[in-house]
Amino acid sequence: MAVVDEPEPTPSPEPAPASAPGHATETETGLVVGHIPLASQESRCIFLVEQDPFQARDLALQIGHFGYAVHALPDLASLKQAVCHTRPSVIIMDVVFPEGNLAGAEVISEIRQLYAMPIPVMFISSRGDIQARLQAVRAGGSAYFTRPVNVSALIDQLDRLTTSEQPEPYRVLIIDDDADIAIFYEQVLQQAGMRTAAVNDPLQVMQPLFEFRPDLILMDVYMPECTGLELASVIRQQEAYVGVPIVFLSMETNRDKQLKAMHRGGDDFLNKDILPNHLVSAVESRARRSRALRSSMIRDGLTGLLNHTTIKEHLYREVLQARRRNVPMAFAMIDIDWFKSINDTYGHITGDRVLKSLSRVLQQRLRKTDVIGRYGGEEFAVMLPDTNGQKATQVMDEIRSGFAQVRQYTEAAEFHVTFSCGIADFPTYEDAIRINKAADDALYEAKRTGRNRVVLATGG
Ligand code: GH3
Ligand code: MG
Ligand code: MG
Repeated sequence: MAVVDEPEPTPSPEPAPASAPGHATETETGLVVGHIPLASQESRCIFLVEQDPFQARDLALQIGHFGYAVHALPDLASLKQAVCHTRPSVIIMDVVFPEGNLAGAEVISEIRQLYAMPIPVMFISSRGDIQARLQAVRAGGSAYFTRPVNVSALIDQLDRLTTSEQPEPYRVLIIDDDADIAIFYEQVLQQAGMRTAAVNDPLQVMQPLFEFRPDLILMDVYMPECTGLELASVIRQQEAYVGVPIVFLSMETNRDKQLKAMHRGGDDFLNKDILPNHLVSAVESRARRSRALRSSMIRDGLTGLLNHTTIKEHLYREVLQARRRNVPMAFAMIDIDWFKSINDTYGHITGDRVLKSLSRVLQQRLRKTDVIGRYGGEEFAVMLPDTNGQKATQVMDEIRSGFAQVRQYTEAAEFHVTFSCGIADFPTYEDAIRINKAADDALYEAKRTGRNRVVLATGG
C-alpha cells in the first residue's frame, strides 16, 4: 500500500542515560542515535524526499503498486527527523535542494554515520549533466535517475537494493534407522540454520522426499529394511531426484567399500564420527551447489518464477498437504489481456517488460508462502496455501486493480495493461486435475465476460 504522508510524529524520547540499551542519545550533529527499529514492513519502507507534492504523490503511488510503503517527505529537515524514528530500507531523493547545492549530500553522510549498515540512496534529478551525477556518486548514491523517472527501471533497482541476501534455509533429509543419531544430526544442522526432516524407516522415504523437497539427503549405509546403497539407487531412478546430492554417513572406513557406495549414486561419504562443524560445512557446500544447479532447471529465464512443470508439481503437493492438514488452498490462473496487441503495437521487448512487471507485482503483493509460476507465454499461476476461494478472489482482485494502475513505459509512450484471472480452490474441487481445469474454465469465463476481472469457480 502506498502511504503518501509523513510517518507518524512520535513523542521525543525520554531522557535516559547514554548507556541504556534501546534508548536514544543526542549527538553533536543533532541526530539521534541508538536503537532505531527497522520499519515494521521490513525491507519495504521507502523514504521519498520530494518538494513537489504532486510529483511525490504520483511517484509514491507508482512505487506503491509494487508493494513498497512510500513515505513522502517534503525536505531534508523532515528526512533528518524521520530517520531518527524509522530506518527506511532505501532513501530516494533529488540531488539539488534549495537548502544548498551540497545539502543533500551532507544530510546523507550524517545519516550514514547513524547506522552501522548504511541505507542505500537513489537520486532523482532533472539534471543529467556530469556535475550533478558526480555529486550523487560522491554522496554515495547507489543509482541515478533523470526525470521523468522510468518507474520500471527504478523498481528494478529498488528490488535489487531491498532483496535480502538471506537465502531460504537449506533443507536436509536425514535417513537413519537409529532415531537418536538422526536427532543428533538434526540438531547440529538446525543450529547451523538449516531445516531438517528425519526418516527412520527407509521404506517410508517416498512421501517426505516429495513433500519436503530436500536440497540434500544424508543417508545411513546399514539399515535393517534395505541398505543405503539400494535406497540411493531407488531415489536416483526417479527423474525428479536425479540432481539431489546423497551423502552417506557410516562407520565404514574401507575406501573400496566407500567408492562402491558412491558408484550406486552417492555423492560423498562421511564418517559417522565427523565433527559437527565439518558436517555442517560439508552439507552446506553441497546443498548450495545443488540448489544453484536446480534453480536453472525449475525457473523461467525471463521472470525468474517457477516454470510450468514445477508449478504443476507444486499444485499436486499443495493439494496433498491441504487434504492431510484439512485446510483449504486456492489456485489462480492469470492471463494478460490483449497481450498480442501489446506486442504488435510496442514490440516484443516491451511485451517482455510487461511480463516482468506483472511477475514483480505478484512477488511483492503475495505472501512468502504463496507459490508463483509462469505457466506459459503470458500466463501465470499462483498457489495460495491455507486460503479459500473467496479470500483468494479478494487478494487477486486487489492485485488486478493495482496492476491495472501500473504505468508501463516505452521510449515513446505510456500505457496500462490488465489481466484476467480464474480461481478454484480445495476442497470445492477435490484434486489437482479438477482444480486446474476449474481455474482454467473460470479464466475463460473472465475473458468471455469482458476481461480485467477475477472469476471464482463455484463447483457448479
Ligand atoms: P486475450 O485477452 O484473449 O488473452 O488476448 P491475447 O492477445 O493476450 O491472447 P493470445 O493468446 O492471442 O496472445 C498471446 C500472445 O502472447 C501471443 C504471443 O506472441 C505472446 N507471447 C507469448 N510469450 C511471449 C513472450 O515470452 N514474450 C512476449 N513479448 N510475447 C509473448
Ligand atoms: Mg494466453
Ligand atoms: Mg492473453
